[in-house]
Amino acid sequence: MILPILQYGNPILRAKGKRIDEIDDRIRELVANMIETMHAAHGVGLAAQQIGEALQLTVLDISAVEDRPSTLKLDGKDADPKSAMPLVLVNPEIELDGETEIGIEGCLSFPEITGDIERAHSIMVRAQNLEGETIQIEAGGFLARAIQHEHDHLNGILFIDRMRSAAKAALSSRLRRMQKEVRRGRRILPEEERPFVTETTL
Ligand SMILES: [Zn+2]
Repeated sequence: MILPILQYGNPILRAKGKRIDEIDDRIRELVANMIETMHAAHGVGLAAQQIGEALQLTVLDISAVEDRPSTLKLDGKDADPKSAMPLVLVNPEIELDGETEIGIEGCLSFPEITGDIERAHSIMVRAQNLEGETIQIEAGGFLARAIQHEHDHLNGILFIDRMRSAAKAALSSRLRRMQKEVRRGRRILPEEERPFVTETTL
């Protein structure tokens, strides 16, 4: 089932996710719906907060991304990042390595907004999979960036928090408008249903 994706301004996006102690049928169903929702929205990741559940749970699928390379080791062994997708991370904990790089990001909770974000190039993740087994992931490149973005969501951190202040200042009126619309309960239309507007009228 495709779930509605919460937009910026919804307070659940700022909630820290609760640890999942038991992976039961409800969680399995939630994960299936999150994967379906992520694919339908052409996203590379989706955090539980974005569909209204403040939990330590995220799904990712970078297999459609051709132009931004990723590396992956699963439990110490080299793995093909594409065939390991979709990735389900329950209660993920991440360690960043020292090297950072700047790359462009978007977010399904911020339609039409992108920004340059500094992230660690490589990360180490410990999480449970849907079977409740502990897995260890070493990720690099785009996958490392996507996991960091989703892991931030699980702690109520949004990519705008990591934008340089000048970039964020340039977006401030759009962000305020988004918050107001969401608070008024006005749905933001999916891209294909949106009337054409030029960049300056946004
Ligand atoms: Zn996001």
